[in-house]
Amino acid sequence: MLLEGSCQCGKVQFSVESETPYPFMNCYCSICRKLSGGPYGCNLMGKRETLKVKGEKYLREYHARVRTPGEKVRISEGQRFFCGECGSHLYLLDDRWDYGVWPNAAAIDTPLPVPPEDTRVHIMLAYKPDWVPVPETGRHCREYPDISIADWHEHHGLTVRGAVPPKKRATAKPAATKPAKQRAATKPAKRASSRKSAARA
Ligand SMILES: [Zn+2]
Ligand SMILES: [Zn+2]
Repeated sequence: MLLEGSCQCGKVQFSVESETPYPFMNCYCSICRKLSGGPYGCNLMGKRETLKVKGEKYLREYHARVRTPGEKVRISEGQRFFCGECGSHLYLLDDRWDYGVWPNAAAIDTPLPVPPEDTRVHIMLAYKPDWVPVPETGRHCREYPDISIADWHEHHGLTVRGAVPPKKRATAKPAATKPAKQRAATKPAKRASSRKSAARA
């Protein structure tokens, strides 16, 4: 399905086709909380080849600082795009997984399908502050989940197939994003892919 999103001030608008549009995974890590400004972050996955952006000149890019106790602060390779005018976080790209776009569900204006309550996945709970509530239903993970966004949709039979007719896809103008400096020579491991889809750290 086509997901249309925008920032709060309206200067940046974007759209992307997604076969995996259910916002089922809530991440309570501090990166997601601080950058989304909410008690948890929730990302979807779309197809990068279909990403279109209006107001690109307002886009700014941030690379999250990943802090692990006892280790040096690491700068995430993920490109987090936000509006330079109003600060809304919009989507993430990562050239290590160059087929995807991970839109912030909160930036999407299109009404999203609602996941069945007991299928929601709550992750990175080890980093959740006490004041943030978590529903008792669903799956709870202390850190990374054991399921990717794509796997979850497949497992529950909720994958939205055939989102883009082949003809349209071929002519779709890809968003001008930074060219990949380095692309992974090999396909990422499934485990790594799961992590990527979930936490984007
Ligand atoms: Zn804005
Ligand atoms: Zn997170």
